[in-house]
Amino acid sequence: MLEDRLKAVIRDIPDFPQPGIVFKDITPVLKDQQLSAAIVDELATRLQGMVIDAIAGVESRGFLFGMMLANKLGIPFIPIRKQGKLPAKTISESYKLEYGQATIEVHQDAFAPGSRILIHDDLLATGGTVVAASKLIEKLEGVVVGYAFIISLDFLHSSGRLTRFSDNIIALAR
Ligand code: IMP
Repeated sequence: MLEDRLKAVIRDIPDFPQPGIVFKDITPVLKDQQLSAAIVDELATRLQGMVIDAIAGVESRGFLFGMMLANKLGIPFIPIRKQGKLPAKTISESYKLEYGQATIEVHQDAFAPGSRILIHDDLLATGGTVVAASKLIEKLEGVVVGYAFIISLDFLHSSGRLTRFSDNIIALAR
């Protein structure tokens, strides 16, 4: 099963990026071309029948499979980046982290109003990042039609925060 294959290669790194945090490292997945292709195929299969105009991926690990998925589906990829990285006119959204806060941005002309956007990130933890991404999409009058993650750490808790935007939430491993 894909979930078992993912769990076998995603490794736990203790005390990264700070003491007490166990970081899920997805880089071994990237070394496995067949597994990477299987991820994109599985996401595309699960999204079959949905009308999606673009995939929005969150910097930086959301770019890896987000772009591959967009390509597979034959639709545009929209980068959501950390503050100060996107060169043209942007809108911003700030959100709380465990310590401090973060700001993410998207280009104002990233998509047309009314576009149906699927948000992708590698990992769902508290959901704070993709809630902020969803607010960016809605500020530009896009419609969040779903979420796709490779792995979710606490699916029941964090997915509950996303359902006010969309209850179509895919996580390949939990
Ligand atoms: P959230 O906002 O708490 O859901 O955290 C998810 C965001 O933080 C995503 O952009 C992830 O890439 C990143 N993240 C949080 N924890 C981990 C981890 O253990 N491994 C990889 N990325 C993580």
